[in-house]
Amino acid sequence: MHGGAEMLGGVTPQQVFTQITYLAAAALFILSLKWLSAPTTARRGVISGEVGMVLAIIGTLLLPNIKAFHWILLTFFIGAAVGIPIAVLMPMTAVPQRTALSHSFGGLAVGLVGTAKYYLWTAEEPGRLTHFVMGVLAFETILGYLTFTGSLMAFGKLQGLLPSRPIVYRGQNFVNLTVLAVAVGIGVYLNFEPTRTSLFPALIVLALAFGTLLIIPIGGADMPTVISLLNSYAGLSASAMGFVLENKLLIIAGALDGSSGFILSIIMCRAMNRSFTNVLFGAFGAVEKTVQGQEEKRTIRSAQPEEAAEILSAAQSVVIVPGYGMAVAQAQHKVRELYDQLTRRGIDVKFGIHPVAGRMPGHMNVLLAEADIPYDSLFEMEDINSELPHTDVALVIGANDVTNPAARTDKSSPIYGMPIIEVDKARTVMVIKRSMSAGFAGIENELYYMDKTLMLFGDAKAFVGEIVKALASEGR
Ligand code: NAP
Repeated sequence: MHGGAEMLGGVTPQQVFTQITYLAAAALFILSLKWLSAPTTARRGVISGEVGMVLAIIGTLLLPNIKAFHWILLTFFIGAAVGIPIAVLMPMTAVPQRTALSHSFGGLAVGLVGTAKYYLWTAEEPGRLTHFVMGVLAFETILGYLTFTGSLMAFGKLQGLLPSRPIVYRGQNFVNLTVLAVAVGIGVYLNFEPTRTSLFPALIVLALAFGTLLIIPIGGADMPTVISLLNSYAGLSASAMGFVLENKLLIIAGALDGSSGFILSIIMCRAMNRSFTNVLFGAFGAVEKTVQGQEEKRTIRSAQPEEAAEILSAAQSVVIVPGYGMAVAQAQHKVRELYDQLTRRGIDVKFGIHPVAGRMPGHMNVLLAEADIPYDSLFEMEDINSELPHTDVALVIGANDVTNPAARTDKSSPIYGMPIIEVDKARTVMVIKRSMSAGFAGIENELYYMDKTLMLFGDAKAFVGEIVKALASEGR
């Protein structure tokens, strides 16, 4: 791609242009991340990221050592033929697995570039494989290939192609760490003996195996956190590739990707009150069956849509707390209709958004934005919690764990310590869900047995639709 050596000689106008486009692209990537952090500026963030990427591609294509344009054009069309249908056809709820698939392609690309450069240089320019270059090349290749298989496994689990339950066996962590240690050992050895090309395939196979083994023991429900971690691996490997290819923009973009993915994983773990080790080695999904198996004999109160509509129309303040069930039911447009019906009556309607509601960060924000619900009606957990004690009705739509008071009160609960939206402090609570089934954490929710709680059993889209109909026929 970029020949650092040629840069030291006379600098051509093309090369200057490339450096300018790289600089602009780096600035746009940084701005893009900043803008993506708020719903009001997110669109701008996406556009600036896209413009940055186009500039980066133009700058790279103008490099003097890029000659075989017909191959680039061919791969461009193949990539577009795969990428466009994925982007257009994948439903919103499948975004986590779509992201996993993209990371797997990125990991594979990095691994292949590392492999190609290794064999090219050992055959033609062994002098280029200095300790530093060989070190980052081995690092890049291991990380690239493990991201490839790890992300493919994550995709398979989320898409239901592979069993999503954690697959565990005795001595698993030992096996995994041994595989990784041998791969790293080969990388270190190649550092001293770069021309031992017969060892490189073993490094590749071990990295591919480690990626697979790493994901097998993790339950499907933990995949979003894992995907964000794999995102950070993909970024790190791209950054290492930047050192190998002497491409500064790749180093910057990879570092941004690596660090933002890592920070996101930390935020998700904190919001679930889980540690990294618990996500990676805890086999969380395995708890589900034992806890769900306990029979529940206590009584609950349930209501029909008409009754729910009456309670809502008599309220002055309503806080809606959406969760995974709203996403599954695709109920966001009906929720918008409900919002319109209530605000038209002068009722104060706010949305309480938990940071890990749904199955990916920002899941609820994206869906509510799709239904054009005003951003200023969306409140983060900390802000809405101070309002809930003065709220007439908390309406929970397909959320479960993120409203479970056990997180505050039950030290033995797996979610103890997780910050929740404190709907139980509102005067009346109504919960729309299809049954008494548990949510992601597989545990009972005390909220459903409280005197102030009314269970509204049904599919979120259908039930909210019925409430809207009842409100509309109330004579307005
Ligand atoms: P949840 O605890 O998984 O509960 C969702 C509830 O929605 C279920 O109890 C289910 O009950 C109901 N539901 C499913 N389909 C429905 C439908 N069609 N209509 C109505 N209700 C439906 O969801 P949450 O409260 O949003 O919490 C998210 C959980 O995911 C947390 O435990 C979080 O730690 C975890 N998590 C989140 C992320 C993230 O990034 N957001 C990442 C990893 C893990 P029924 O079956 O009875 O209907």
